[in-house]
Amino acid sequence: MASKLVNVRTLDQLAKVMPAPADADRDAMQAVLDQFPVRITRHLLDLMQRSPAVAAQFLPDTREVTTLGQDKCFSGLLELDVPGLERMYPDRVIIMPHHACPAYCRFCFRKFYEHHSGSTMSYDDLDRALGYVAARPEIREVLITGGEPVMEPKRLRHLLAGLRRIAHVGPIRLACRSLIMAPELCDDALLEMLAAHQDLAAGKPLEVALHANHPDEITAPTIERLVALRQRGIHVYNQTVLLRGINDDAEILRALFEALRRYGVETYYMFLGGPVRGMDHQRPTIADGLALKRALRRHASGRANPHFIVTTRLGKVEIGVDGEIVAREADGRHVWIRTPYTLAGFRAVSPRFELPDDARLDDAGYIVMRYLDGPSEES
Ligand code: SF4
Repeated sequence: MASKLVNVRTLDQLAKVMPAPADADRDAMQAVLDQFPVRITRHLLDLMQRSPAVAAQFLPDTREVTTLGQDKCFSGLLELDVPGLERMYPDRVIIMPHHACPAYCRFCFRKFYEHHSGSTMSYDDLDRALGYVAARPEIREVLITGGEPVMEPKRLRHLLAGLRRIAHVGPIRLACRSLIMAPELCDDALLEMLAAHQDLAAGKPLEVALHANHPDEITAPTIERLVALRQRGIHVYNQTVLLRGINDDAEILRALFEALRRYGVETYYMFLGGPVRGMDHQRPTIADGLALKRALRRHASGRANPHFIVTTRLGKVEIGVDGEIVAREADGRHVWIRTPYTLAGFRAVSPRFELPDDARLDDAGYIVMRYLDGPSEES
């Protein structure tokens, strides 16, 4: 597998995958490479030759070195004392068994986490995470994410087997962008292992979360693996990240969602690209996202119409459904978003939870979060 990954740390290595930067930009580009790893799979390299939309998601850009934006776009609560275990809500936890990916998306909201250093949960940490879940019957659902969990299939099997022994855990969701980035990682052996940890009759489904952003990503190898998953009875749902200049176009999105639907993939979420530091150039605005959502409602089947989501540091908000923009600051960029979350809700998970500096409560007790919107044409 390692031979199929291309790591780029120097300008000479970079020149093998993209045109060399102009002389004036060489130092800035080296600063990007020093700060943020660049990794691309052979599958993506081939794809990038014919798809600028794919290339723009994985190739570095000198604009990444800036102070604008956030290093931590997701709070991930709370005093859990187990590396790789996160919890925001009473009934769900997140477990991240492996923190690296076969390729690194430049817009990743975990870009500044340790995961790009490739750290992995030890078996002892996995067992501590399993113990945490087993001791709390209110936890009914687990999301396994990362990084890419399928890069460590033995750890993944250990985790799935342990979770399946916990009576109160029902659905397990598995985030997997390798279906797009390196389909060969999702070989038959892996899919058989996943299927063996699904027991629908017992109310214990396993669901795979795909992350596809552009129709160019839906290649023959990806389709073949999606079909193989579906034929094994595993549900697949997709989460798209809206990115300026890449997929912020209703026709592109419609083509993507229709393609996914043909192969049995539920088009579930369309996230606004988050306020990740250094990624302003790829961020649409909330208004852009709402306009795209409206266009999709007009021109695509409701079955191919995902929820449009803005992700604040304390969780997802569906603008106009369970939250709204309540104020915009004079800079035109920062907005305040009423979320569906309450202080009491987070304190039920972590009694010592305190509101972060960029949050306040409204009169009804809902948390209102400050959020950096994408740059509009005027800003
Ligand atoms: S695959 Fe997911 S976790 Fe990995 S770099 Fe891309 S967005 Fe981040």
